[in-house]
Amino acid sequence: MPTDALSSLPALSATTFANVVIFALLAHYFIERWLLQRHIRHVAAYRDEVPAPFADRIALDDHQRAADYTLAKAQVIKVESAVGLIVSALILFGGLSRLWQFTEPLADVPIGREVALIALLSVITGIIGIPFSYYNTFYVEEKFGFNKTTKSTFWIDLVKGSVLSAALILPLAALVFWLMRASGSLWWLYAWLVFIGFQLLLLALYPAFIAPLFNKFTPLDSGETRTAIEGLLARTQFASKGLFVMDGSKRSAHGNAYFTGFGKAKRIVFFDTLMERLSNNEIVAVLAHELGHFKRKHIVKRIIFMALASLAFLAAVAWVLPQPWLYSAFGFAADTGTTSPGVALILFSLVLPPLLFWLAPIASAYSRKHEFEADSYAAEVSSRDDLIAALTKLYKDNANTLTPDPLYSAYHHSHPPAMIRIAHLQSTGAAQPQSVPAA
Ligand SMILES: [Zn+2]
Repeated sequence: MPTDALSSLPALSATTFANVVIFALLAHYFIERWLLQRHIRHVAAYRDEVPAPFADRIALDDHQRAADYTLAKAQVIKVESAVGLIVSALILFGGLSRLWQFTEPLADVPIGREVALIALLSVITGIIGIPFSYYNTFYVEEKFGFNKTTKSTFWIDLVKGSVLSAALILPLAALVFWLMRASGSLWWLYAWLVFIGFQLLLLALYPAFIAPLFNKFTPLDSGETRTAIEGLLARTQFASKGLFVMDGSKRSAHGNAYFTGFGKAKRIVFFDTLMERLSNNEIVAVLAHELGHFKRKHIVKRIIFMALASLAFLAAVAWVLPQPWLYSAFGFAADTGTTSPGVALILFSLVLPPLLFWLAPIASAYSRKHEFEADSYAAEVSSRDDLIAALTKLYKDNANTLTPDPLYSAYHHSHPPAMIRIAHLQSTGAAQPQSVPAA
């Protein structure tokens, strides 16, 4: 009996591996398609009546608008996921190996050739995505009154976004491909350290250098809103480098609030669209929810999780790198890994998403747990009723459906469905903590 568990596994054939990937691609597509169909039926079935808990706060018109918006988006998702299935299959089974042959003239600069493969792949998938994002912005969002983007902003964003990702990702890829060749069998550990360093650098640069490429950030004026927010920050002993208002209305009427940066350089950013619609107490309650994510260590947990997941990913690449089936299954020469290790990384990152799609509902459940915890925190340090009022306004204004299909929601939604979320808040105790002093 061999003692090593891995070496006792029968060798995987390229055909078997290709079949596993085809099966995963189809299972992913059909399971999500079935869930989407359930969602469409559910939302349509509940379109004509506002659910009881919201009956006195959301008008039938608004409820129906949310249903129609959800159904319109679902139609786009239908087409997008079918195209996605076809594109993934074409890229994996023949497309990528053809692109690789196309880069043959770069054979003398192997790292450059691998980087060129990533660039070509990104350009192709990027171009395929444009019609969907164009249709979503200028037809779906436009029809429901959310779109504020002009055609020129849309195209400028696309160019800026592409140049920025090329400037960030291609040099990182080149460095990793070099490490795969130069740093021996532990390359994946060095690559991981580089990747973590890159992530931290990105976090540090994002608020001051990257976000301003797309939006304007104005420090929040002193006034009642600012006083109310500073009251909450003082009560919760939260150190922040500033409160900013972002011109989210430049692109969309959807509202939001978020944190950015880390350590003492944390910034709190409110969309102007959110500030316009919520009262001061409601803004404080929304911020208290965001602070809850921080205070309950969700952000740290997420960073640690990402770090461990990327380590596991790179270790897995190191393991599959010498396996001939990885290459033969997709039309590459069986020894590609020895001459072009970068191809192993590219192939594996294309194969992994369909193989791991079943993790989506687990990730969603974990995220919803955090949302409940952040809501409980907000109820403790601000006001439960203000948060309920704010969420109700946001559901209504963003046309979020109140009646998603439960299974669809369990699979996809990072936030609990409206009714469950409000019920959870209402169960957090009737005794109201002291509300904020400002009006
Ligand atoms: Zn949250």
